[in-house]
Amino acid sequence: MTVRIDNLRIHFYGVQGSGSVFPSKAEREEARFYADLQLLEKLYAEFQERENQQGQLECSVEELFGGPPGRKTLKEMRGRFELTEQRVYGGWTTCIRIETSDGYDIVLDCGSGFRNCAQDITDKWGDSDERHLYIFGSHAHFDHTEGFDQAAVCFDPRNNVHVLGNYHYLKALDQNLGIFSEKAGMDLKGIQTPLNYELMPANFDSTEIRDLSQKESILNDPVVGQYHDIREPFRLGKTVIQAFEVFHPDPCLGYRIEHNGKVFVYCTDHELRRGDTDDHPLQIASMEAEKVVREQSSNADVLYRDGQFLQVEYDGLQGVGTPIGVSRKDWGHSCVEDVMEMAEACNVKHTYIGHHDPNRTWVERNWIDETLARRSEQTGLKFELAKAETIIDL
Ligand SMILES: [Zn+2]
Ligand SMILES: [Zn+2]
Repeated sequence: MTVRIDNLRIHFYGVQGSGSVFPSKAEREEARFYADLQLLEKLYAEFQERENQQGQLECSVEELFGGPPGRKTLKEMRGRFELTEQRVYGGWTTCIRIETSDGYDIVLDCGSGFRNCAQDITDKWGDSDERHLYIFGSHAHFDHTEGFDQAAVCFDPRNNVHVLGNYHYLKALDQNLGIFSEKAGMDLKGIQTPLNYELMPANFDSTEIRDLSQKESILNDPVVGQYHDIREPFRLGKTVIQAFEVFHPDPCLGYRIEHNGKVFVYCTDHELRRGDTDDHPLQIASMEAEKVVREQSSNADVLYRDGQFLQVEYDGLQGVGTPIGVSRKDWGHSCVEDVMEMAEACNVKHTYIGHHDPNRTWVERNWIDETLARRSEQTGLKFELAKAETIIDL
């Protein structure tokens, strides 16, 4: 049964930074151990309540467990004991899908999460005649483009895949696949993937988002189908999408997405730079971008923002997942502490901190998330680590 979408439905398919990461065997065993221990403790406590004075039980095994072994009994037991699920922090690299109340399908970035995302979109489309997907890219890095050639939407000639982003985003896809230029831009044909536009029958078009007041930079480039001025919002039905530049420092876009007054801000791979004087050129660029991020995030309902490092890790006093530190300045990512400060200053109702470092252990992910939960209780604004497979209805 499909549930009605009031305004926007946001689905996190990939929230992992830099590369796909799943818990190791040892981490899975550890999580299972705690889940089993939790169950044992709860069963023990419940059975203990039923003991008579001699410490004997006077009921059947079936009564104790609430039914015969099977799916139904297990489901009821889970509900009764409120057993916590293992949280899925990492997994696939960045991909977020948005469905709008008026039927548009929007995707933010095509990391490895795009494969599952595209499968869900093709399932939804079925044999429908309306087959338009709008992809808004942040930047060209591999963890934001790597899922493109694995996505089912690219292999059906009835599908229309509209890709919007900065020049580097469009170029990154085209130089591997030639989907926009149909050859001319395919500098890397066959090097990173066996696929190319000849094997991908969907209809692709590209829109470069740029500052069109800078007229000299518009080239007759076969990678770019059309241009959209970054100073203007892009409209899809009732949804208004405003792009803005962040500091990565390679060109990178964030997006503010508004629908019926509900606001979702997507800001991945942005660094609030630390540690240099205010007149350092990169520091100035970072601070200017941060100012824009704050303006765009003001009073947002939901913010997804990159917080790859803790401050001690950024400063190189401690490593990520290892005690040996290395400075993370100019790696292009922000600190968790700065994201929280920013979200509070901007009165963001719910902040999801994503782009997890690939070396972040599962124990640390749990610990950071629990710290954020405590901060939420203190401030009344919600903070959490982004988890794959989260669905948010706005
Ligand atoms: Zn990234
Ligand atoms: Zn990046």
